[in-house]
Amino acid sequence: MSSETRRPSAPFVKRKFYARRKFCRYCSDKTLKIDYKDYRGLRGFITERGKIVPRRISGTCAPHQRKLAEAIKRARNIALLPLCANHT
Ligand SMILES: [Zn+2]
Repeated sequence: MSSETRRPSAPFVKRKFYARRKFCRYCSDKTLKIDYKDYRGLRGFITERGKIVPRRISGTCAPHQRKLAEAIKRARNIALLPLCANHT
């Protein structure tokens, strides 16, 4: 009986989220504006599946996160952002 059970242990946690800053991006950069038409800016705040990245991960402050969520929802309505990306 030769049963090899090699278990590839993964000590490294894969970081799916790029933004790992503690500060709010919109607070630090006053020139940045939360605009639903600016989907490229909003894209940094949604996951691959099109979900809004929670505040604790993105680091966005509460008022900006609220505006961001509003903008993302608006962008979804006009199909700038995916409502729900199909996972293949
Ligand atoms: Zn802010």
